[in-house]
Amino acid sequence: MRPTTSAAAVQRLVVLGSTGSIGCNTLDVAARHPDRFEVVGLSAMQRVDDLAAQCLRFNPRWAVMPDEQPARRLRDMLRGHGLKTEVLSGAQALSEMAAHPQVDSVMAAIVGAAGLAPCLAAASAGKRLLLANKEALVVAGGLFMRAVRDGGATLLPIDSEHSAIFQCLPLDRAAWSGTVDHIVLTASGGPFRQRDPSTFAAVTPQQAVAHPNWVMGRKISVDSATMMNKALEVIEARWLFDLQPQQIRVVIHPQSIIHSMVVCRDGSVLAQLGTPDMRGPISYGLSFPERIESGAARIDFPTLGALSFEAADERRFPGLYLSWQALQAPDGCTAVLNAANEVAVASFLDGRIGFDAIHAVNAHTMETVLPEAGMADSLPGLLELDARARHCASAWMKARAA
Ligand code: NAD
Ligand code: MG
Repeated sequence: MRPTTSAAAVQRLVVLGSTGSIGCNTLDVAARHPDRFEVVGLSAMQRVDDLAAQCLRFNPRWAVMPDEQPARRLRDMLRGHGLKTEVLSGAQALSEMAAHPQVDSVMAAIVGAAGLAPCLAAASAGKRLLLANKEALVVAGGLFMRAVRDGGATLLPIDSEHSAIFQCLPLDRAAWSGTVDHIVLTASGGPFRQRDPSTFAAVTPQQAVAHPNWVMGRKISVDSATMMNKALEVIEARWLFDLQPQQIRVVIHPQSIIHSMVVCRDGSVLAQLGTPDMRGPISYGLSFPERIESGAARIDFPTLGALSFEAADERRFPGLYLSWQALQAPDGCTAVLNAANEVAVASFLDGRIGFDAIHAVNAHTMETVLPEAGMADSLPGLLELDARARHCASAWMKARAA
């Protein structure tokens, strides 16, 4: 993989999902380095006021919203401010912006499979692609990595664990092949690490999104509480680093200081550490192979105290173990798992199912929706699989509620 910009050139940056947690942190880092980054494109689903404020601050060339109605509101809000921003709507406009020749770097920070198409567009167009949107890789795995390779894109992981592994090992497998025994992804254990699992049915959405260490969007916060987030990250790591499923392990590390580790053939362990602040991995993705100020606090070792580790209990976190199961099943099963989980989490957040039902929906959908040969090889095939899994998950929840 080759860098698409020289270190000295100003990077023309598009932020997909700019109003979200990763999107805002990305703009925070970019704004610290106006000599390096020009924000040329922004996008959001709904928060028109926030997107308008970002347009006024960065004066991007484009602002894209999937739906026309909020886009019309945004146009009204920006009128008369003398901005160069063109407000576009529609899913196609997102992909076109991500692949535009006058864009160097794309931060993929949309949540869920909805981010897949613009990610693929950016990869095929050879962009420097900063990937926070793990669901895109979980859904499309092999197809995604082929698009990166064939398009000549530079793929940079933003998920803190994968950024940690990337900082210990480059993505280019040829450089380290044969030296790695396995990797260890760390997990905080989320808000229910010590809660009695027999009380999980009573967990409220508010309790589930209250993460002890990280401030994140609602979906990933629920995924952290079930540890489905780590399940998605196991699948993400399999594709990013071309590892066998059994080479990926998970350990709970409640302090979130060690962001992940590589265990080498000789027993030596490489780890990357930092305070839990996504501006660390974001700034590394933005500036790679250099390093720039991120705004993240430094670790103060004398006051840090103990770092501890524990196993992830399968009874408490059954969802985590679906990742290895899905990776060993036929191609496309990870897309099924992801779709079921998106539907289940949305239903939980809307108060339609209990917290403990999320795993039941995911396990049932994985058992029921079986990919046909070849479905995982094309975007239409994967989207069909995604739709079947969503339908199955919804139908099952409805039948159980009746
Ligand atoms: P978020 O909910 O805070 O933000 C999501 C963004 O995507 C918003 O701007 C929203 O408007 C936009 N969006 C939502 N649905 C969309 C759709 N259908 N089409 C277009 N845009 C849409 O989420 P987040 O926490 O910033 O997470 C974003 C991604 O980054 C997720 O895939 C998550 O797993 C990953 N990630 C997040 C963190 C974190 O600390 N927040 C860490 C690692 C990875
Ligand atoms: Mg992570």
